[in-house]
Amino acid sequence: NRRIVLASRPSGAPTLANFRLERVPVPRAGAGQVLLKTLWLSLDPYMRGRMSAAPSYAPPVAVGDVMVGGTVARVEQSGIEGYRPGDIVLSYGGWQDYAVSDGTDLMVLPAGMSHLSRALGVLGMPGFTAWYGLLKIGAPKAGETVVVAAASGPVGAVVGQLARLHGATVVGVAGGPEKCRRVREELGFDACLDHRAPDFAAQLAAACPRGIDVYFESVGGKVFDAVLPLLNTFARIPVCGLIAHYNDSVYDGGVNTDPGPDRLPAFMGQILIRRLRVQGFIILEHYSEFYAEFLHDMQPLVESGKIRVFEDIVDGLENAPAAFIGMLEGKNSGKLLVKVSS
Ligand code: NDP
Repeated sequence: NRRIVLASRPSGAPTLANFRLERVPVPRAGAGQVLLKTLWLSLDPYMRGRMSAAPSYAPPVAVGDVMVGGTVARVEQSGIEGYRPGDIVLSYGGWQDYAVSDGTDLMVLPAGMSHLSRALGVLGMPGFTAWYGLLKIGAPKAGETVVVAAASGPVGAVVGQLARLHGATVVGVAGGPEKCRRVREELGFDACLDHRAPDFAAQLAAACPRGIDVYFESVGGKVFDAVLPLLNTFARIPVCGLIAHYNDSVYDGGVNTDPGPDRLPAFMGQILIRRLRVQGFIILEHYSEFYAEFLHDMQPLVESGKIRVFEDIVDGLENAPAAFIGMLEGKNSGKLLVKVSS
């Protein structure tokens, strides 16, 4: 039984030295518990936050503890009524081969589900994040312009495709010409721009001749700088993530020691003058109210091919740390998953 623990807290970008692979005996499930064998592990940007000690909406992983993460797993032993060996479940087993659960974090997946990994992507947390943030906060109308950051990832890909289905013009932002090509040609966005291009801000202005009505924010940094001057009156900004800042100490609530100009008045001024609606959200809070509605909407769209899916699959638990570090640098193309066993 292998498991990957947090060896030390990162300062800035995580490195391989922050993780440690350990071998421990396979645990046993007691009464009121099930033993799970991990099939798929999801790697997600929020895990960077859990590696820091700073307070957030969820507690940090303690140094020496197994890294947390969503998993699809098979029940091996069951001490809980309603779970049988062989059941395939959505769980939160973390970065390890086997996990013991008390059942509170489990959901049995339908028998015969054809693509189990999708329960961690388009039909799971990232897809739900996209659906909720776009439709409940962004609320795009036909004819409006929607700009989507991190457009090739599991959240951005769904945001853009859903916005197109709602009749909006959709402009994606992604890292590099190949990701942009796939977003345009395979996901059907109207345009997709490379945020690394030196004239990115000018390209964005040219791609949004009627301004921006919804900006789905997952990045921050210079992407947001380019978006701000283009926002229309009454534009909506669902603030889903700020990945460009996850390695900054100010993001963790630290003190800003940057001697640069104070840009807060300029931003607040635009919120006031253009009556912008800027709303953060944490998807965990919305499962009980909206997850069923999301699945009801999304499943047919995925099955009919109206929503297309990109997955980036890494083989072997031991490769999870490098893949995770790569994701924070934009090396993944689509939902990043580790195939742990079959
Ligand atoms: P992705 O698979 O899209 O991975 C992150 C991507 O961010 C990278 O591939 C990279 O793509 C891009 N990126 C990284 N650094 C930068 C940078 N400095 N500037 C611009 N782009 C950068 O992840 P997800 O789709 O899973 O998540 C997208 C966002 O949604 C994240 O911010 C995540 O934290 C957030 N999120 C929030 C939730 C919530 O409840 N609020 C729930 C789930 C996700 P590229 O190469 O294109 O730049």
